Amino acid sequence: MPESSHLLPAVASFLSSPKQLLIDGEWVDAKDGQTFATVNPATEEVLVQVAQASAVDADRAVVAARNAFETGPWSKMTPRDRSHLLWRIGDLIDERTEELAQLESLDNGKSLASARGDVGVAAELFRYFAGWATKMEGTTIPMSVPGREFHAYTRREAIGVVAGIVPWNFPLTMACFKIVPSITAGNTIVLKPAEQTPLTALRLGELLLEAGVPAGVVNILPGFGDAGAALVDHPGVDKVAFTGSTEVGKKIAAGASKNLKKVSLELGGKAPNIIFADADLDAAIAGAALAGFFNEGQCCVNGSRLYVQREVFDQVVEGVAAAAKAIKVGDAFDPATTMGPLVSQEQHEKVMSYVRGAVADGATLAAGSPDPAAENGYFFAPTLITGVTEQMAVQTDEIFGPVITAIPFDTEDEVVAAANNTVYGLAAGVWSRDLSTAHRVGSRLRAGTVWLNTWHADDVTLPRGGFKQSGWGRELGSFGLDDYTELKTVIAELR
Ligand code: NAD
Repeated sequence: MPESSHLLPAVASFLSSPKQLLIDGEWVDAKDGQTFATVNPATEEVLVQVAQASAVDADRAVVAARNAFETGPWSKMTPRDRSHLLWRIGDLIDERTEELAQLESLDNGKSLASARGDVGVAAELFRYFAGWATKMEGTTIPMSVPGREFHAYTRREAIGVVAGIVPWNFPLTMACFKIVPSITAGNTIVLKPAEQTPLTALRLGELLLEAGVPAGVVNILPGFGDAGAALVDHPGVDKVAFTGSTEVGKKIAAGASKNLKKVSLELGGKAPNIIFADADLDAAIAGAALAGFFNEGQCCVNGSRLYVQREVFDQVVEGVAAAAKAIKVGDAFDPATTMGPLVSQEQHEKVMSYVRGAVADGATLAAGSPDPAAENGYFFAPTLITGVTEQMAVQTDEIFGPVITAIPFDTEDEVVAAANNTVYGLAAGVWSRDLSTAHRVGSRLRAGTVWLNTWHADDVTLPRGGFKQSGWGRELGSFGLDDYTELKTVIAELR
């Protein structure tokens, strides 16, 4: 825990009492009284005890969400009122930027600067979708039935009760990715934050009530995978919106298929980042380091597989290694810190074991170490590995840590084949001064997002999602509401 003098009084006060579940507008204990500790990954100290939802609590929350969807003020709220409400929440989040950023840094470990950026995205999400609430339009469609006249049109309607299940790498923004489109479209939602990082979702729950979100519209259930599975199985849930690992995504799809619930999945990745010899190498080197190390490398779109054209391979490796060594790993509350700890002991052990495995298989560390970067806390030095083969686990598996592998290539065809040789298809990148090369290679890469001469550039206006085993559906942008609505066709005969 950082010195309490660093903490805003509102954060200290939030952490001074055990946290509860938000069900039907009330803060309540888990029915069986279970709690779990959430830990500061920089110090390994317990931040606060949190109520742990079980299947019984999942049922209570789904019943509340169903009632709120079918009866009460929410079902009668106009799109304009929903729009105003969303905008108000965005403003409230902005006003609490520092408070939410401190909570996020404490719970997740990310630097305060990074956490502030996340809070800004959360606020912007509410404002962007506030605009869409009044623009869920249908179309009129001509019919050709001889001798009869019809008026046919479509309506976009809410699906019902959404179960949102999210991971720990961007806890607040991931919660908002599910809550915002759900309520924009008039659905109600039960959100299960990740067990490693429940705090900002719970603080957001308080802000939602303060802004006037009616009881039962947003319910928040901290807990483990069993609580998530109970939501997926629950017959009262109409749609499951999941972000997390591909492994769990497959379980969600299987569980939801029992009742043929709607499902959207934002899953893992192993993004290839391709640098051609004609690239602006200063930009490409800085971009490769950002691609691999941003957010402690705990990003679904992490540029973890670096492919560099042979004639500039050594120069790029040297540059990215220098960038890795210049990163200041430390506590989020130290202003010099540019990389915090990994989120948990489990994640720390996983990342370490991949790096150790690669070294044991004969790979070389151009930057980093297979050992922890500090005695206390889950710190891990940004790592660049060369001498890697396509078969090594470090090259095939999603590691979800600050680890980049670098492999040289000669031709475009060879690198496109290598880049696409993965079960994932979330993101990819190309660096070249020749725009024809950049666009052509970009079009050949099987990924939901392709960055050309940049990485991590993003906006709430842009759709995101995965090809192949990186997911189903798209989030955000003008497509972001589609997965949260049903399309109804209405046919009226004009007599
Ligand atoms: P995870 O799959 O282990 O857990 C995600 C969530 O699912 C957590 O809330 C967890 O409690 C819950 N869960 C676990 N088992 C469950 C089950 N059987 N049924 C229902 N819910 C269950 O993922 P993680 O370790 O928290 O996050 C890292 C993963 O998330 C990485 O694979 C990363 O690529 C992915 N991710 C993807 C995106 C994207 O937009 N595609 C964004 C962020 C993270």
